[in-house]
Amino acid sequence: MQHLANAINLRTCFVLIKGNILIKQRIITNSKVVSILLFSDRSVPALITVLLEILVILATRPNLNAKQEVNTTCAYCGVGCGIKAEVRPEQRRVTVQGDVSHPSSLGYLCSKGSSLGETLALEGRLLQPEIGGKVVNWQEALSEVSQRFQKIVAQHGPNAVAFYASGQLLTEDYYVANKLMKGFIGSGNIDTNSRLCMSSAVSAHKRAFGSDTVPACYEDLDHAQLIVLTGSNTAWCHPVLFQQIRKAKEHNASLKVVVIDPRYTPTCEIADLHLAIKSTTDVALFNGLLTYLAEHNALDTQFINEHTEGFDKALESAQKDVPSMLSVSQTCGVPLHDLKTFFDWFTHSEKTMTLYSQGVNQSSRGVDKVNAILNCHLATGRIGKPGAGPLSLTGQPNAMGGREVGGLANQLAAHMEFGNSTDRDKVARFWNAPNLAEKPGLCAVDLFNAVAKGEIKAIWIMATNPVVSLPNADYVKRALQQCEFVVVSDCVARNDTLDLAHVKLPALGWSEKDGTVTNSERRISRQRALLPAAGSAMPDWWIISRVAEHMGFAKQFNYQHPVEIFREHAALSAFENDKEHGLRDFDLSAFANISSEQYQTFEPVQWPVNATYPEGRQRFFDDGRFYTDNRRARFIALRRKPAQFLSDSQFPFILNTGRLRDQWHTMTRSALTPRLNLHRPEPFVEIHPKDAARYQLVGGNIANLRSAWGQMMARVKVSEAQRIGEVFVPMHWSEQFAKKSRVGALVNPVVDSLSGQPESKHTPVSVQRFSASWYGFILSREPLQNLGSDYLVRVKGHDYTRYEMAGHTLPDDWRHWITQKLRQSYEGAMQWQEYTNPNQGIYRCAVLLEGRLIAIMNIASNPGNSVLPERYWLASLFAKPELTEVDRLALLSGKPSTPDLNRGALVCACYSVGENTLITAISEHSLQNYQDIGRHCKAGTNCGSCVPEISALIRKVAKPPKQLT
Ligand code: SF4
Repeated sequence: MQHLANAINLRTCFVLIKGNILIKQRIITNSKVVSILLFSDRSVPALITVLLEILVILATRPNLNAKQEVNTTCAYCGVGCGIKAEVRPEQRRVTVQGDVSHPSSLGYLCSKGSSLGETLALEGRLLQPEIGGKVVNWQEALSEVSQRFQKIVAQHGPNAVAFYASGQLLTEDYYVANKLMKGFIGSGNIDTNSRLCMSSAVSAHKRAFGSDTVPACYEDLDHAQLIVLTGSNTAWCHPVLFQQIRKAKEHNASLKVVVIDPRYTPTCEIADLHLAIKSTTDVALFNGLLTYLAEHNALDTQFINEHTEGFDKALESAQKDVPSMLSVSQTCGVPLHDLKTFFDWFTHSEKTMTLYSQGVNQSSRGVDKVNAILNCHLATGRIGKPGAGPLSLTGQPNAMGGREVGGLANQLAAHMEFGNSTDRDKVARFWNAPNLAEKPGLCAVDLFNAVAKGEIKAIWIMATNPVVSLPNADYVKRALQQCEFVVVSDCVARNDTLDLAHVKLPALGWSEKDGTVTNSERRISRQRALLPAAGSAMPDWWIISRVAEHMGFAKQFNYQHPVEIFREHAALSAFENDKEHGLRDFDLSAFANISSEQYQTFEPVQWPVNATYPEGRQRFFDDGRFYTDNRRARFIALRRKPAQFLSDSQFPFILNTGRLRDQWHTMTRSALTPRLNLHRPEPFVEIHPKDAARYQLVGGNIANLRSAWGQMMARVKVSEAQRIGEVFVPMHWSEQFAKKSRVGALVNPVVDSLSGQPESKHTPVSVQRFSASWYGFILSREPLQNLGSDYLVRVKGHDYTRYEMAGHTLPDDWRHWITQKLRQSYEGAMQWQEYTNPNQGIYRCAVLLEGRLIAIMNIASNPGNSVLPERYWLASLFAKPELTEVDRLALLSGKPSTPDLNRGALVCACYSVGENTLITAISEHSLQNYQDIGRHCKAGTNCGSCVPEISALIRKVAKPPKQLT
């Protein structure tokens, strides 16, 4: 009933369903319910019971006018930072700060987390269920979904339907989704976008440890002598963890940091050594390390003998794979000297941590890459000890929670496996599920292939946007276009996937959800509801459970509150989990009877939480006991293999994809925050200067990128941070924000044969200049429609929307063109300022209404900044109620009245400090380090996410740099 309570808080008229009772409530003014209407074919006593429940909630709910403080967890990455939110529900206002009591983050938040309060407006939310674009009530929507799924299952069997879930779901949501599909519909076809994130790590953990166990914790970083960051731009993708490493380094001068990444990323700013290995050569590197460790007496032979198996074969394989240091150096493309430095540091650092992320996982050899790392830790016995161990960094806030409940198609639930008949029997008995799926379902890429082939006829996509994020994304889009029945539950009204849904189901957003999430160090934290539900939005677990009820499983899905689900999830983890029946690592038996009050006050804790570890467990395998049949860890014998697709004359570059500092996934939430959009406002392709020169590409050009699977457009960024022959494109842009810039359309659909994880870091592509006749941008107070340029990117600003454009065809008359795009109501009242220089193809105009800026357009025949003015300065003019004469003149000249207004690209999102401002400050005041900068202009002193870029700028001003992305 908590969510009923949330919904009751709304100032609107809406319909809810509880059981088969419709509850229609009318306007609430000053937090008072004006009327409540109940419709049902149920008996009067049943109606009275529900009415009494509502009255109790109304009587006990908090005062909406009062300020409340709520502890919750960040919505974004797998670091899982704690948030202390100050909430004013009546105004729907939330301000966030780091929760100093949260053990994983100790009060720190990055730029994304600290701006979460700016993403909570109702604008753009999906507020009502829809069928075929028509608003319906929940009853109709639930009936439609359940009946269509039931009909397809009856006609074609359970494997003709599928769920595609997300690491954004809470554990309770995930649990019921998995239970419904695997336990009651009877198919394994539930997979998740976490497949794209860390499924290779999961498979590698199981191969080596016999279980999907993360042995280490964040505190280990403070004890380490050597931290190896491989395939991880930690500075941007896990910023608070990066800050912890930076601080550890400041406190311990002997701590060494090695970054292994084909690119020079902001993470390299704290690196003592950067190994820019060639794409896909990780196995050779760690095979080389294993050989080196053996040759230099760095093995922990006692640990190997007592707690592992398969070492000799693994070493033999490694030695054959890369017989010499020289062969490692040549294979990986790194200098021999650097290689030896890394191997020496690893050899002599008893406390070594290796952190790995998507750069390792997103590969057709992702599992082998992780096992190559684990081999080195097992060989040195560096696992389960303070400051020593491998640590997989998960991308999403609840990727780990999904793993716990069996959100991946090849898992069962509570770390039980399809391949184990005892496990299947346990889960079936626990759920009382006579129809439990007998085999794994399809992993993400195969699942959408089955949709394309018509084998899967109904799919329910939950809180994710596969039309953007999956590889071969155009194919995925076509698959959904022709799918018989597509259901999408999400909190936003539009994204590229929702546009293809037959049924849209409004789910709660981050600030409304109530449940638990688990971060990269196995720490379970509460996400707590801060605000009432938006419109008729409901929790994902509620939606799934009600569909399950409609499908005839009322008894097993009669959940009314997330604590009931969490309790059951904990009880399942404990079910026959002992020496007699078989031990499992994941055990929450201490919470099997958790009360509602305990759930409300739940404090973050690392699983397992049981009789042996009532306060949770920091590290696994400190006892040398693993979860294989003989309790020994397994070495895996590995040989390097080339990627399936290599560059050639048609596609001469290898495309690498990844995240940016200030955007999240497909931008549906982070792009609501103007200051986050200013860091990297456009999709770009980063290319080495030599490659750029070879292909006549200049920074600021627009490029066409093509692969065997699709194409996209992006702004060219020339940078020595990139290896020759490799290019980088961020993963975030969708059709909601850019016309042709989904990098997923290019990415090859090859997957790791063991994990099913796609190879998002290695696709052969071509890069060619898009020969535009014109380039330009518009800043407009009102959003504009149908701009029709070939290249088009939309960027939300504070008082304006920015459109970056380029096109082949020049309009006859720019003034006529822009007039058509502006709102009709401005006609006649608008004042125009214009400047034209036909020789340079320049057209500038500013449109004002009573002295206030309405729009600015700047067009030129080339994209250089010398002809197209600085956007940030122009954007600042939209904050003015009336432009001065000086402003107007500056607009026409394309230059600000004073140079300091030309702030440059945003670096510090918290204090809006731009690159030009920082460069001027560094040179004029001889600032030496980021602390000097902080004292001078506050940049970098709040969330600290920009510190690596500030450090890079200091180097750049001091000497010619390697640029950052
Ligand atoms: Fe959120 Fe940033 Fe913490 Fe990740 S590092 S959980 S994005 S605040």
